[in-house]
Amino acid sequence: MNNLITNQPKIYEGNRLNFYNDCFPILKKLFDENDLKLAEKIQLHSSHGYDDRGYAIGLCHPSRYSSDNQTRHITISPSLNGETVDNTIKALGTMAHELVHTIDNCNNHGNLFKTNAEKIGLRGKPTCIGAILEGDNASVEFNDFIVTNVINTIGCLPEQALLKLKSGKGSRTKKIICNKCGYRNSATGQKVIEWSQRGGFACNDCGEYHDDYDVYFDGASQPATDLFEVQFNYCD
Ligand SMILES: [Zn+2]
Ligand SMILES: [Zn+2]
Repeated sequence: MNNLITNQPKIYEGNRLNFYNDCFPILKKLFDENDLKLAEKIQLHSSHGYDDRGYAIGLCHPSRYSSDNQTRHITISPSLNGETVDNTIKALGTMAHELVHTIDNCNNHGNLFKTNAEKIGLRGKPTCIGAILEGDNASVEFNDFIVTNVINTIGCLPEQALLKLKSGKGSRTKKIICNKCGYRNSATGQKVIEWSQRGGFACNDCGEYHDDYDVYFDGASQPATDLFEVQFNYCD
């Protein structure tokens, strides 16, 4: 019965970085069991502002970027959602992916990378290989490992996603669907925050001033957010 997940899983008490640091020795066990040797020095980070492209959910920086030329710095984006079993498995799939890059200084997604990632149960295309929850290609063994060794012991990844808005020059416009008339409004991220703080705006089609909009920040890949929530969920 140890693996039984209740509807209300325990949430880790502490911040995200502490969570990832506590997960490190647990994940390392999985690598050890598969005779995979991680880099000696690894430092984890959970922060925005490291990714010029603005969308990577994890990065493993080559050791030459560290002051001692040895440490592998790994950044895991806070845009990953926490607080549920599924979210936790996916986030740790990202962390495990980045850890695979530290084996034999493997900074690409070639055959060695793919083979090592699959040994610990990650699945998917090499560039985004990680934890897959459902379907024929699900990373069942990895997922079970996380449930047993992380979620049932220290709990789920804390905190909801903190997405990064790109605003100003070069920012993409955001899709904002009016739930009164269905019209697709658009505006920069900065504008959307403003409207959220103000409590609404007038739809460009039906003209009604209200706050019943669905905001899409990252195309179709991310679920919509209520306009009202934008000011709390997103940082600039
Ligand atoms: Zn990678
Ligand atoms: Zn409208």
